Amino acid sequence: MTIFWSDIQLEHCEASFIQAGQTKTSPESVARANRITNTLRNRGRTLEQPSDFGLEPILAVHDKAYISFLQSAYQRWTKVFGSEKKLMPNVHPHMPYDSKPESIVGQLGWFTADMACEITEGTWRAAYSSAQAAVNAAQQTLADGKTHYALCRPPGHHAFSNKAMGFCYLNNSAIAAQVLRSKFSRVAIIDVDVHHGNGTQEIFYQRSDVFTLSTHSHPKKFYPFFSGYPTEIGENEGEGYNLNVTYEFGCDEGPFLEAIKIGLEAITYYGPEAVVIALGLDASEQDPHGEHHVKQAAFKKMGVLLKKLEVPTVIVQEGGYNSDILGDLVADVLDALDA
Ligand SMILES: [Zn+2]
Repeated sequence: MTIFWSDIQLEHCEASFIQAGQTKTSPESVARANRITNTLRNRGRTLEQPSDFGLEPILAVHDKAYISFLQSAYQRWTKVFGSEKKLMPNVHPHMPYDSKPESIVGQLGWFTADMACEITEGTWRAAYSSAQAAVNAAQQTLADGKTHYALCRPPGHHAFSNKAMGFCYLNNSAIAAQVLRSKFSRVAIIDVDVHHGNGTQEIFYQRSDVFTLSTHSHPKKFYPFFSGYPTEIGENEGEGYNLNVTYEFGCDEGPFLEAIKIGLEAITYYGPEAVVIALGLDASEQDPHGEHHVKQAAFKKMGVLLKKLEVPTVIVQEGGYNSDILGDLVADVLDALDA
């Protein structure tokens, strides 16, 4: 297993988000990333610098205007407001009009879906490098048919084709899946983060060549609230190729692992030639952001279950926030999949 990571991914830092009316520092922090890289190195893993595959694999799943916005937003905003002001929009669109504002303030609302995706000076470079890690892992899997891991940070599964959301800017799992499609005709994404992979769902919602499965805490009580319901099954060509398997808010590993087993049955029925595992660890009982009660040992069991897919696999890091065991959770899952 090759692990891809670049220190450029640390350049997205000190981002804020608004929770319960309060501006807080994002838990998707540099410390969180350092925890994972340090643990992996301590446990004998080597981290490889990703090569640069350019914008093409990113533009294969993202809107060009959105990418141009991400590349220039910080410079445009600070030209107007100065660097001490945070990039927070005044309004998010809610009408079914196709009105695209020209103002940076309007565009910030247009291209972000919530208040958890502040753009800082290093956000674009970090998000771009994070996406390159995903592309590298997918390319390596294309080359040797084995399992490889992209330590993507910032994460990606809340990022839509044309909007940032929930600490996510570029949808690394979707990018990896699309790269795999260059060789494999049927690809599946299994997203085990505690939050619904809503961006990934949106990107492939009308397609049958990439099956999207997300297991997560039921959105009636949990972020992202407005998607992730079992009734969302895909549309048109994609009808029947999106599956949401939910468990109750605050549950322990019983329902968590049961949801993954159900999801794996569906994926096996689909018969993918390759899979992307969107690896979120925020269902952990020690996660400061997840509010669920899954014990450390259950993540090893999850890895053993996922290993049974026995097809070329790309693992893409999604959520999971800084706790004493975060690095071990990642390393345990990688060990199980690498056995
Ligand atoms: Zn999450």
